[in-house]
Amino acid sequence: MDRKEIADLVVGHVVDVPDFPHAGILFKDITPLFADGPAFRQVIDALVDHHGRASFDVVAGVEARGFLLAGAIGYATGAGVLAVRKAGKLPREVLTASYALEYGEATLEVHQDAIEPGQRVLVVDDVLATGGTAEATLSLVERAGGIITGFSVLIELAFLEGRARLAPRDVHALLTV
Ligand code: AMP
Repeated sequence: MDRKEIADLVVGHVVDVPDFPHAGILFKDITPLFADGPAFRQVIDALVDHHGRASFDVVAGVEARGFLLAGAIGYATGAGVLAVRKAGKLPREVLTASYALEYGEATLEVHQDAIEPGQRVLVVDDVLATGGTAEATLSLVERAGGIITGFSVLIELAFLEGRARLAPRDVHALLTV
């Protein structure tokens, strides 16, 4: 599938939900995309093809929807999977990154020893909005000793300019709106 076909596939399987979880937010519900087997497979294949299956050793997914992407990419490529978790879920020593949300603050964590020094890490999530989540995740992976080889999302909300916060790292979106 070419870029336009993949973007159309994502558009066709996303439901825009106004005012969720707060007034003024247009929530991109991608659960129909995950629920459609052939579409899900095409999306995973497109992500793997973009990066090349030999370009990373580990794929990191951001809790929770990023886990669904990372697990599938890990299985398809034989790469390891790293769960970037919300605060308080991991049982051993962690690295922590906090960042501002629209309302309040959020914290993400990885185990301190989750990544071998120099391991190449692809990071995936469902939506890039303001970039706070991605910035925290990428910094955690780097502090843990990983080398970011790319960051992919299904949907980038370009008007929020999250991409600028992640420069000069490679940011890839199947659909940009
Ligand atoms: P941000 O940190 O602002 O880039 O937000 C990204 C995170 O919040 C991602 O993990 C998304 O799952 C979620 N998110 C933010 N905005 C939306 C939106 N409009 N629709 C769906 N998910 C969103």
